[in-house]
Formats: sequence, structure tokens, C-alpha cells
Amino acid sequence: MKRVIDLRSDTVSKPGPEMRRAMYEAEVGDDVFGDDPTVNRLEAVAAEVMGKEAALFVPSGTMANLVAVLAHTRPGDELILGDESHIFNYEVSGAARIANVQTHALKNTPEGLLHPAEVAAAVRPPNIHNPVTSLLCLENTHNRCGGAALPVTAMDELAGVAHERAVKVHLDGARIFNAQAALGVPAARIARDCDSVSFCLSKGLGCPVGSVLCGTPAFVELARRNRKMLGGGMRQAGVLAAAGLYALEHNVECMAEDHANARRLADTFRSYEAFSPNVPQTNIVVVDIVRGSVSGWLEAFAAEGILAVAFGPRRIRFVTHINISAEDIADVAVRVKRAVLAVAV
Ligand SMILES: *Cc1c(COP(=O)(O)O)cnc(C)c1O
Repeated sequence: MKRVIDLRSDTVSKPGPEMRRAMYEAEVGDDVFGDDPTVNRLEAVAAEVMGKEAALFVPSGTMANLVAVLAHTRPGDELILGDESHIFNYEVSGAARIANVQTHALKNTPEGLLHPAEVAAAVRPPNIHNPVTSLLCLENTHNRCGGAALPVTAMDELAGVAHERAVKVHLDGARIFNAQAALGVPAARIARDCDSVSFCLSKGLGCPVGSVLCGTPAFVELARRNRKMLGGGMRQAGVLAAAGLYALEHNVECMAEDHANARRLADTFRSYEAFSPNVPQTNIVVVDIVRGSVSGWLEAFAAEGILAVAFGPRRIRFVTHINISAEDIADVAVRVKRAVLAVAV
């Protein structure tokens, strides 16, 4: 049986021996009491890396976004976001159900951006009838827009439009280190004009669990209460935080290789008429299916030991990550060729 090459997501990456050693050796305490030295260290390091004053370790990116929305808004407020954003599509309507905010989705550009004029027009003027627009959410890199890295000039402009209207800005930076690698700009600069930023440890950084949410001390204090409310207060979480600290030190540099692998993978698909891949800026390859069906191709790839996910009625997504080598990508090329012969469309 050949080795399965799992490209469904960068979340499938597994902690290696060194990271596990760091977890094994982690000093721990009860983090709800504020006693876990490893969590405290992770929060301090993360805040510094993101150029913010404070940070909060949370179990997932979804919870990071939700506690951010809870902290920045009041029930009945309105939140502006992109119609392709993770918060709008993949977070089980948490903003609506738990934060009680109305989402106002604007059309994302293919580059994962929003039009500044549309954001400006979407902010509602004070009026007895209107909900209060209190938050703009951005996403960098942008998952559904093929891992697009949003340029800082565009981010700054959008944040400016929001702030001029007293609207706060939250950056869903689940993959912000991929943006850092692609843009050649430090994460802190990317997030500079955002009031808060979250990032995942469990994706390209290769940790088993966790995200970090960064912002002002007052914001993080509120977010900490919200995390407790949601059941996300963890006790000896230093075991998990140790993986995050290890990753921030050792795994940030791996992203460039993931991106090179994604470009090579896209090249493989581009050589077949059945497929129309994006030109990946980061670690996400989205392949539009020109011939055949998504389910048919997923099955043919699975038969060759390649795992991917459906990403729309005519689209499949592949994500490169820390456990995928250049040799694996070369191997995928061979396997895709066999799959194409087997399907023979
Ligand atoms: C994965 C992801 C999240 C959520 O992360 P989980 O840890 O899976 O909850 C949020 N935003 C974006 C853009 C993501 O890709």
C-alpha cells in the first residue's frame, strides 16, 4: 500500500518528535488562574510577533474569531465581512447565534479584498432605524480566494475606511505567516492597522491544537471572559502552548517551501486539459474541474493515495504543509498522471 499524501488541509499536519519533546517537557499550571507559565510565555511571544500588547491562547481559530466578534460588538450590531470569508461561510453562524450580530457580507474580489468604497457605503449612519456598524473583518491569507495574500497597502486602506467611521477591524489571520512569507512583510506590519488579529498554530505552523488572538490589554481581558463563557478556559494548557512556542521559533520559515510545493503542484494540474488550477501565492491550490466531476476526481485521486477536498461544485482544494516534501509533490505528479489515465475523460 503506498503512502497516503494528505493534501486536504494544512490542519492535518502532525507534531514531529522535537515539538512533542517540547510538549512533554512543558512547565504547566492552571491557566484559568493565570498560572500556566508556558501559556503566559506563548501569549507574550505571540503578542510581540503580531505587534500587539496582549494575546490570548484559544482552542481554535473559530473560537478566536468568535471571542473577537463578542469583544468588539454589542448584540444587535452589524459586522461587515467578505462573502467568501471563513467567518461568513464556515463558522456555523456563531456571530449571529452567539454574538447576536447581523453579518453584512460584501462581495470579495478574487484577490480576497473588499472594495473600500463599498465598505464605506456599508457603514450605516446613526439613525433610529439602523443597526450600529461596529466591526469590519478581513482575512489574510484568504482561504476561499485560493490562499491569496492581501497586500498591506490594500489592508491599510480598508482599515482606514473603517476607523474613519469609528468601526473596529479584526483580522482573521489564520494563515498570516503564509502572508508574511508571500509578501515578504512581517506579520506585525500586515496586522498593524487592525485592532485585533488571530492566527492558527494548528495549520502551517504544524501544532496539534490552538490559535492565538492578539490586541490591546482591554480587548484581550474581554476576550478572556468570552473564552471562559464559551467553555474555552483550559487548565494545564501549557502542554499545547509549548507546541506553539516551538512552532513560532522553528516552523515559520517552512512556509516558503510549502509555497514552492504549491506552485509545483499547480503546474502539475495545469498540464492537463481536465484541470484549471490557480497560480498559488501561498500554500493553497484550487483546481477548477473542466472535465469530469469533483466526486469522480476525488475518488480517482483517493485511489492513488492523494487526499483533497471539494471546494465548490466544480472545484477541488489541495493544501501543502509541513509534512509534505518536494519529493511528495513529485510523487503526486506521477499519481495524478495515473489517475488521469484511469478516468480517461
Ligand atoms: C481554519 C481557519 C479558521 C478556523 O480555524 P479552526 O482552528 O479550524 O477553527 C478561521 N479562519 C480561516 C481563514 C481559516 O482558514
